[in-house]
Order: sequence, then C-alpha cells, then structure tokens
Amino acid sequence: MNILILGSGGREHTFAWKIAQSPLCDNLFVAPGNSGTAEIATNVNIGVTDFGAIKELVLDKDITMVVVGPEDPLVQGVHDFFLNDEALKHVAVIGPQKEAATLEGSKEFAKEFLYRHNIPTAAYESFTKDNVEAGYAFLETLKPPYVLKADGLAAGKGVVILNSLEEAKAELKSMLVDAKFGQASTKVVIEEFLDGIELSCFVLTDGENYKILPTAKDYKRIGEGDTGLNTGGMGAVSPVPFATDEFLNKIEERIVKPTINGFKKDNLPYVGFVFIGLIKVGDDPKVIEYNVRMGDPETEVVLPRLKNDFVEILQAMANGTLNTIDIEIDERAATTIMLVSGGYPEAYQKGKEITGVKSVEDSILFHAGAQLQDGRIVTSGGRVMAVTSYGESYQEAIKKSYQNIEKLHFDTMYYRKDIGFDL
Ligand code: AMP
Repeated sequence: MNILILGSGGREHTFAWKIAQSPLCDNLFVAPGNSGTAEIATNVNIGVTDFGAIKELVLDKDITMVVVGPEDPLVQGVHDFFLNDEALKHVAVIGPQKEAATLEGSKEFAKEFLYRHNIPTAAYESFTKDNVEAGYAFLETLKPPYVLKADGLAAGKGVVILNSLEEAKAELKSMLVDAKFGQASTKVVIEEFLDGIELSCFVLTDGENYKILPTAKDYKRIGEGDTGLNTGGMGAVSPVPFATDEFLNKIEERIVKPTINGFKKDNLPYVGFVFIGLIKVGDDPKVIEYNVRMGDPETEVVLPRLKNDFVEILQAMANGTLNTIDIEIDERAATTIMLVSGGYPEAYQKGKEITGVKSVEDSILFHAGAQLQDGRIVTSGGRVMAVTSYGESYQEAIKKSYQNIEKLHFDTMYYRKDIGFDL
C-alpha cells in the first residue's frame, strides 16, 4: 500500500523509518518532511493543514493510509475531512476526529472529560474575561505555586506556573483581558499544583481495543538541571526506571481503561495515538494532559523499541482489530538527545550546515529541523536532530549518543549534557 505521513519533525522521521521497514508499504510519502525523510521516502512540499493539496496528493498517488504526526491538522479536522469526502472515504486516517482532538485543543474540554470519567487529575476551575474577579477569588483559595493554562493551543507556551499570588492574578488578567495568547486564552483553566515526577504513557487505540506502548520520560527545559525556558523537548529515555510494574498497573486500571471507555461512552470515535502526560504524586499517577498524537522526542525512543511491523499495527487500528496484535518490545533501553540551534527556544538562526552525519555509528539520527539544500544538510528549525541509541541500560545508551554527538557539528549547536542523569 501507499502511505502518507503528515509532518516534518523528528517524530515523523521516526514514523517514516519504522514504516519504511515494513513489507506492507510500497510507496511512502511525507508532507512536508525533512532531510531525514528524504532519504527513505518521497517528500512533498505541502503544509500539514492544506487539506485541498493533501486530497490531490492522496488521489494522485493512490494513497490508502494517512498517518498524522502533529496535532494541528487533527484539531482542524483532517480526519473528518476525509470521512466527509466521497473520494477519500476509503482512506484510513490514523489520528482522531475533530471532536476527540479537542482533548488536546481545549484544556477545559480535557478537564471535563477527566472529571466525568473519574480519572485522577488536579482540581481546577475555568474562567473567562467576564468572571476575572471570580478567578482572583479562586486563586486566593489555592496554595502556591499557581498553575494557569490558556484553554486553547498556544504552541506549548500556554501553561504558566507562578509562585506569588500577585503575579498569578496579573497573569490571569493578561491572559483573559489582554489576550496574551490571543484566541487561545479567551478561557483560562486554573489548577491545583501537583508536586511529583512526570512521565508519558502512549496508548494505541482503534476506539474499542487498546495497546500500551513503553513509557518514556522527556526533558522539557532548555537548561541543565531542568532550568530555563520550556522547549518542545531536549531528550528522552525509555523505559522510565521509576515506572514499576505496580505503578504501570495503576496507570492502566485508573487511567487508560477509563479513558478508552470514556471515548465510547461519550461517542468519540478514536483511531490513533493517545499521549497521556502523567505525574507521579506519592505512589499514584495523575493526568496532567492529553495529547492526541505521539510525543516528540518520545517517539524517537518509543518506536525504536517496538519490534512489530508498524504498518500491521496501524492497519489493525484502522480496521478495529487491534485486539489481534501482540505488542513486542525490545528489552533494551533507548535514549535520545536533541541537538538544537543556539538561542532556541527563543530566536535562532537557520541555514547552518550540519556535518558529520555519515560518521555516526551505532546510533540512529532522526532529523527534525533539517533540510536538504544543494546536496548539503542545513538547519531549518530550533530542534535540529535527535541522536537515538540503544543500550543494555539507559546509561549505556546515553553514553553512545553523547559519543556520536562528538562527531556532529553545526554552527551554534547546543544540547543538554545531563539527559537521564536524574534517574
Ligand atoms: P501541559 O501543557 O498541560 O502539559 O503543561 C506543561 C507543563 O506544566 C507540564 O509538563 C508540567 O510540567 C507542568 N504542569 C501542568 N499542570 C501542572 C499541575 N497541575 N501541577 C504541576 N505542574 C503542572
């Protein structure tokens, strides 16, 4: 079959790497893709939310499966677009329909879902500019730190955590009244602060059955020791050493099962990935957020540990037969270190040549913000490349990644040197 992946990051290169290994895939296309996907698939320069152009491509190339990488096309209804078009109806789309994608598109929608299905999460209330005063009053009932979340998608920047009540009130006003995050902050969710260690759980579902992929932990902050600004993610480790079988069992019983049952009860058809952001408070898991796609860079450590034919799994998701699949996981640990452009996550330069790619041994390079230009690989984004390695232990895997990074170079290259050191 012919398959199209939407997206251009490290996650999509990893999808392409895994899908290209399957004998079930004849031709693989990535829109728009990057220098990594260009080596193993055909890149097509189409934006991920340009549904008209995607339709043309799908019909022209006889594509029968579309795997959606990022959240934007899902929140904008790409799956519904396919379902509602006679010519595209037969195409399997991996990613939920618009309504279920609201679990990521609206924090309030997600909190209401969690409460309705008794899934453990932080206490919250939501506010609009018509009840800012009530928001101030709610903040006064909480203990610091204060967690404020813009309801809508804000490019990963919509969550603000503050230590003083005064700052929290000023932030609430800025989000609601001064539209700090534009449309995304017309509503703000204020939450109880949960103190614990975070991890991510990835679930595949066909809407009826589910399979749980290995856990992963990502490193969000730009600076070592988890300091500085939030980023898309600076590295990841799988499995998560503190996620014991007992803890994983709690995640499955208290969170995964009620989530999948919740989709059914609420009539939310869901074929795709559920990325559950969790926090371990004491010995108990609580949900921080849902994402309706895989994480990046977690995909770069989770998929390399999956032994199955990925296309077989994707087909089972689309056909409602995920119960027939036995997920097989590589026992080895996998880790990834993200190389970023200096200045990221703030302003950074692009177009820097990346050298040394060919000398990397025993690690997998997943390209992210990197493009081919006149036969050279150049930087084109903040997060440039993920260096993934396997190891008998995560320490061994990390060591391999750091050794290979020594061979890679681009002007302003930066990476964290402490990935996994806290585990
Ligand atoms: P989110 O976009 O909801 O994942 O939030 C971004 C980050 O903010 C999370 O990864 C957590 O580190 C932090 N965070 C979100 N909600 C809470 C909470 N209720 N308590 C503590 N930290 C939180």
